[in-house]
Amino acid sequence: MPETRTAIVTGSARGIGAAIAERLASDGYAVAVLDLDEGACLSVVERITAGGGTALAVGCDVSDEQSVGAAVERVATELGAPTVLVNNAGVLRDNLIFKMSVDDWDTVMNVHLRGSFLMTRAAQKYMTEAKFGRIVNLSSTSAQGNRGQVNYSAAKAGLQGFTKTLAIELGKFGVTANAIAPGFIVTDMTKATAERVGIDFKEFQQLAAKEIPVQRVGRPADIANAASFFCSEAAGFVSGQVLYVAGGPYD
Ligand code: NAP
Repeated sequence: MPETRTAIVTGSARGIGAAIAERLASDGYAVAVLDLDEGACLSVVERITAGGGTALAVGCDVSDEQSVGAAVERVATELGAPTVLVNNAGVLRDNLIFKMSVDDWDTVMNVHLRGSFLMTRAAQKYMTEAKFGRIVNLSSTSAQGNRGQVNYSAAKAGLQGFTKTLAIELGKFGVTANAIAPGFIVTDMTKATAERVGIDFKEFQQLAAKEIPVQRVGRPADIANAASFFCSEAAGFVSGQVLYVAGGPYD
């Protein structure tokens, strides 16, 4: 086993991805903080290094094959073979289907599905060589259907099937694949949704909390805790699962 494993977290300049990157760094991984804009990753990298961890800022568009190939190769060279991958990068292009443009559909599919496919295909080479790997994909409770999100819910449901197939194909190489399906988590993404529907973000959170059994909205750290478990050595017999982290029951 290498002294330090290398993890890539996509879309980790902010929000849930940043929390996962920081958590994995404190768990002892060298972490590639990967996002569209390399400069935007620097504050997360600085927080990790200030805490004694190892991190690298990597600019990459996960939906672009060449960008992904170059980024994963750079991580392997500068940090070490990436044997942990968290496919977290995401975008919203919400609209009711009769108003949804082809561009809104394609953008969401390209970042979530094509992006996860490209990143996983590039990284699995290092995992199968190492006979160890951990893949975590960010799904959503929206996979079960959500008004105004026909594109996003299709992509997030698609990621669940993607995860299960990765588990089947890669298990014999010591690679597990699991999905986390968050409910309402306080980030810029849910803030943007509040703005779109014209509700103050604080009030939006209070309304959401009332509908959640544990009576609170989620925080990025709630998702980072689940990701930490799935990436751990101890989770080697857990694969192909979808864990809803939503303050209540989903299946
Ligand atoms: P966020 O705050 O909007 O962060 C998403 C990050 O992904 C941003 O830094 C964004 O970069 C990056 N990104 C977008 N397109 C990219 C691309 N093509 N290549 C690389 N990076 C890209 O979102 P979040 O709330 O943390 O969500 C993280 C994940 O959890 C997403 O997959 C989301 O769908 C999922 N999720 C979130 C919630 C929630 O309640 N927040 C619930 C369920 C699931 P830019 O800033 O440059 O656009």
